[in-house]
Amino acid sequence: MAVDVGDALAATPSKLFIGGEFRAAAGGETFATINPATEEAIAEVASASPADVDAAVAAARQAYESGPWAEMPARERGRIIWRIGELLRERVEEVALLETLDNGKPIFESRYVDVPMVAEVFQYYAGWADKIHGEVIPVSAKALDYTLREPLGVVAAIVPWNFPLLLASWKVAPALAMGNTVILKPASNTPLTALKLAQLAQEAGLPPGVLNVVTGRGSVVGNALVEHPGIDKIAFTGETGTGQQILRASAATLKKITLELGGKSPNIVLADADLDAAAKGATMGIFYGKGEVCAAGSRLFVEKSVAGDFIDRVVDRAEKMVPGDPLDPKTRMGAIVSAKQLETVLGYVEAGKGEGARLRTGGDRAAVGDGKGYFLRPAVFDQVDNRMKIAQEEIFGPVLATIAFTDEEDAIAQANDTPYGLAAAVWSRDIGRAHRVARRLQAGTVWINTYNRYDAAAPFGGYKASGYGRELGVHALEHYTQVKNIWVDLG
Ligand code: NAD
Repeated sequence: MAVDVGDALAATPSKLFIGGEFRAAAGGETFATINPATEEAIAEVASASPADVDAAVAAARQAYESGPWAEMPARERGRIIWRIGELLRERVEEVALLETLDNGKPIFESRYVDVPMVAEVFQYYAGWADKIHGEVIPVSAKALDYTLREPLGVVAAIVPWNFPLLLASWKVAPALAMGNTVILKPASNTPLTALKLAQLAQEAGLPPGVLNVVTGRGSVVGNALVEHPGIDKIAFTGETGTGQQILRASAATLKKITLELGGKSPNIVLADADLDAAAKGATMGIFYGKGEVCAAGSRLFVEKSVAGDFIDRVVDRAEKMVPGDPLDPKTRMGAIVSAKQLETVLGYVEAGKGEGARLRTGGDRAAVGDGKGYFLRPAVFDQVDNRMKIAQEEIFGPVLATIAFTDEEDAIAQANDTPYGLAAAVWSRDIGRAHRVARRLQAGTVWINTYNRYDAAAPFGGYKASGYGRELGVHALEHYTQVKNIWVDLG
């Protein structure tokens, strides 16, 4: 059922969510969140100060140490988390609409990918709430030794703007399932769905203080969270540079940290691949989500013998991804998230040309509707050298660098020649060869004959400069618990 934009915005809070209440920032400050498809402000959202962060930490700490959450049986916790998932499914149209208005991604993606997966993540972790337990260790006949898996305490989840609610769910759901309390800080470009989540969590019966949402600038709110002595763990997704800053700033208080950072993922097409499937996979691998995807297949390696024809196919497909109104269900290429990001991406297109790569298509602004909005035609470069800036730096936009290789060894060497290691893919009909290549790629996820596949149960995270720790699956749970060992003398 279609939801009216005005109704959806009117039903969404714009204030901080602290201790179970929506309240204005202590200083009364707000900031405008902009719809990148129209360049218009869609809401005025509270801009938190360090004093608000103090209040959120106090509320989260109290909820962790006393009150219903601390006493609640794990299964009951799971039921509330499951209910959050149910509410997300019931409100999918409204939540998807907010995500698209704030981020510019096609409604097709928010409606059929982002929000359903968020619901899935909450329900997946709801199931884990009562299934994590300790063990008895046979140390000696004269002693009983056992372990408890305890929560960490107060977790701050700091998330970027590309998958605002999805990346929040990857942190909030496992943290809550393991009995922690959470302070969620969305990116200032995309604060609305985090506030909507707070509203739904409250409706689902989550006790006050268990989930708090503080909106505002990363340099103020994010930094206050990172330095705060009352926070036990930071779960961060964002740029590698911000991750490094967080590590430094959190050193004084020795917080537990998980980092999901940038990427420059290689997508390798061997000559024996199903080239039609690979061309489709390569196009979606980079242009899905406007290329604002940490795991985007931004470096396409193609075996020389098939490179000419293959790149033609990719160019052809790219040209069919015409930027359009994100609210139109037929649109597959939305608006770049912000004017600043558009400028960054255009700068990389110029850098690519300047370094001698050949721009085969796109890379320029597209006029959609009345000409407003940050729309960009998807860009494909060929004749790229892996040492060029467009092949080494994360662009975080719809720009593909295609690179030819001579053989398997050359492909692996070039693919691994990057500071990053988030994801990779290999396309081949020779399954043994594909597995062999997959083992040698330095990446946290490798796709074979597919791209951009995710599941709540499948771990995701980076090698090298792409981060520490894993999200999703059972692997995430160890980042939200700590082990206590207990000795009992049996004298
Ligand atoms: P960003 O690093 O600028 O911001 C991420 C979050 O950190 C925002 O909420 C921001 O307000 C906050 N922040 C900024 N400065 C801070 C500071 N000094 N202390 C604490 N918090 C601070 O990243 P972005 O531009 O929002 O997102 C794009 C980046 O995210 C890309 O590099 C992309 O690869 C990465 N990303 C990684 C993954 C992954 O799973 N590895 C997923 C999505 C995005």
